[in-house]
Amino acid sequence: MSIIDDVKQKTDIVEVIGQYVTLRKSGRNLSAPCPFHEEKNPSFFVYPERQSWHCFGACNTGGDVFSFIMKKENLEFGDALRLLAERAGIVIPDRIRPDEKKDEKDRIFEMNSAASLYFHGLLLNSLAAEPARKYLQKRKLNEKTVRDFQLGYSLDDWGALKKYLMDRGYSEKELVDGGLLVQSEDGRTHDRFRNRLMFTICDSRGRVTGFGARVLDDSLPKYVNSPQTLVFDKSGTLFAINLASPSIRRLDQAVMMEGYMDVITAHQNGITNVVASMGTAITDKQVNDLKKLTKNIVLSLDADSAGEEAMLRCVDYENTFDIELNVVVLPEGKDPDDVIREHPDSWQEFLQKAIPVVDFSFDMVSAKLDLTKAGDKRTLVDKVGPVVSSLKNPVRRGHYIQKLARLAGVNENAIQASLGAAKAAPSYRPQPQPQARRTGRATVKTLLSKPVEEQFLAFLLKHPEFSLRSRD
Ligand SMILES: [Zn+2]
Repeated sequence: MSIIDDVKQKTDIVEVIGQYVTLRKSGRNLSAPCPFHEEKNPSFFVYPERQSWHCFGACNTGGDVFSFIMKKENLEFGDALRLLAERAGIVIPDRIRPDEKKDEKDRIFEMNSAASLYFHGLLLNSLAAEPARKYLQKRKLNEKTVRDFQLGYSLDDWGALKKYLMDRGYSEKELVDGGLLVQSEDGRTHDRFRNRLMFTICDSRGRVTGFGARVLDDSLPKYVNSPQTLVFDKSGTLFAINLASPSIRRLDQAVMMEGYMDVITAHQNGITNVVASMGTAITDKQVNDLKKLTKNIVLSLDADSAGEEAMLRCVDYENTFDIELNVVVLPEGKDPDDVIREHPDSWQEFLQKAIPVVDFSFDMVSAKLDLTKAGDKRTLVDKVGPVVSSLKNPVRRGHYIQKLARLAGVNENAIQASLGAAKAAPSYRPQPQPQARRTGRATVKTLLSKPVEEQFLAFLLKHPEFSLRSRD
């Protein structure tokens, strides 16, 4: 369980918010004058079952216990997390707490750094690394790039790195804890990375946290990464952040790609505000780290990896972190590596065509639909409605309500009215679960667990004439 889930589970939103305002019972929920804006009649509600809050007044916003604390105490996400963790008596991970394991970590950084240099030397000089060098030539990477990224090669040997590092004073246990050796059940250990092209992964301060490793033949798995260690957490890692941060600050924009080679090729071609997520889904830790550098984040996705759930999550991030996410979509079958290698300039053209993540959700959902059909229009509203109504900014929300109305042939006023009705009805009680909630996927459910969206969907389900208006 992540620290965030842990804190959420051990925190009662009613207790937390109750320390700031006097909550009164209102049916199954609680209400109070909004702590964020001046008002006489309470339009601020707390929902114990969902562990969420919402202001139906001037703020017209809501969220979970983290967003409440962030807003109320004017804190970054990490600080809000720390505050709530301390309150719940949860041990905070080392990256936030004053560091008791600093020595142990420094030792792993040192060890990784030594391993990285060892792999790099092998790539440049060892006879065995010829296939790796051939591969890099084929991908058109030059010497400077190989140096900048400190690419490497691991020998086809079960104990080469182990011997190299133990000769330099590292213990077997340290090597296991640092993720460089694998320990089998009988206690024996061997090198984790063998006969692979090695990618050195650094944190924003340039310290080596771990490695990615690619096969040089057709064997599987194609990629192996360092396991979770004291200094490496795959889900929070941004590959090349150490090289990209100056450009990200300067250009006030970060581009997130998916693969090591995409990022390396981009940097070699002068596109240096680029990092990679370590897998397809972006995480709150990654967004939070990028947000320290810029509020403009562009995701470069191939069509297959851009699932609906991922998009909903993205809108969540936009709200929580107050950032803007845009999406670059490349031609089918192409990844950034291909595009940039073939025509470096064409990347800029794609980048200029980046679209906001919400528009991307519209495109993605409607691509699978025939919007001349009433049923498909309904599907569009069902799927994109939650995304649109979860937008915090009223101007943006209005814009997308119009777009949704236009595309679906839904009466725009009807959608507005259904959202407005929720806003003007502080005595709102949760409806029985509408069908859409039970059939929705996990992430959709999370978003739908906000009262406004629920009411919106319930409204559409009760009044199908609004979403099926164009049926002749
Ligand atoms: Zn308010």
